[in-house]
Amino acid sequence: MKKGKKLYEGKAKIIYATADKNLVIQYFKDDATAFNNLKKSKIEGKGVLNNRISEHILTNLGQIGIKNHLVKRLNMREQIIKLVEIIPIEFIIRNVATGSITKRLGIEDGTVLKEPLLEYCLKDDNLGDPLIAEEHILAFDWASKHELEKVKKMILRINDFMIGMFRGVGIKLIDFKVEFGRIKINGKSEVILADEISPDTCRLWDSITDKKLDKDRFRKDLGDLIPAYTEVAKRLGIFHEYSNVSAVNVTRLRSVKKKKKIREYQKLLHLKNMF
Ligand code: C5P
Repeated sequence: MKKGKKLYEGKAKIIYATADKNLVIQYFKDDATAFNNLKKSKIEGKGVLNNRISEHILTNLGQIGIKNHLVKRLNMREQIIKLVEIIPIEFIIRNVATGSITKRLGIEDGTVLKEPLLEYCLKDDNLGDPLIAEEHILAFDWASKHELEKVKKMILRINDFMIGMFRGVGIKLIDFKVEFGRIKINGKSEVILADEISPDTCRLWDSITDKKLDKDRFRKDLGDLIPAYTEVAKRLGIFHEYSNVSAVNVTRLRSVKKKKKIREYQKLLHLKNMF
């Protein structure tokens, strides 16, 4: 599909028009930002990993009935997505307290929450994405009551599904952010999941060691962001075909080489013993 003009450039993605007015191309950049743009860097390969991981998660969510904007992945960095009218709210779901909530409310880091906690932030960089209440959303018509009820139901299912998916590969889903958008389906306005779900937008800790496998590696200067994101992708089976192929090749080459060397050594010993 041919890429048209740039419609929007965000901190981590660019949106391009296509010949179809209902579809756009989402390009994943390598840029990393944190603390409302105060910290910035380029991390080579991050966009490629987020593209693949987000595709995997949104495809799986689609299969359990969570309608979302993904149409298909085009290449290493691009996806075709449905054009939606984004609801200007960041929906944050927390299973374990860490990050901003611990600073804001003095909660001990790592506190397991009795139930998933849903928070709302207004999507506005100039205001620093402030925390808001449901009443603000309704008072200022950022979403209707009906839309909010639908979104809340979807979020709980997304959280349940993702907790299970990550638990199965030895990862704890600590928290994450999702966005939703409006789209017309058969002339009726519907709310669907939009944006990305990746280690940029989730907190993911190794189940045993609590090692951080997400963007906190950048926020907290922990380093090794690419190996961490690659680990997530591998555990989810995304790079299965590649890792298997190379593993088989390496083992084969090594064992063949080894056997050959042993045989040569045995031959030498045999020769030595003969004389
Ligand atoms: O910083 P905070 O603790 O509020 O983040 C909660 C979750 O939301 C984290 O997983 C973080 O990666 C995600 N988030 C995001 N985009 C933002 C703010 C938070 O993806 N603008």
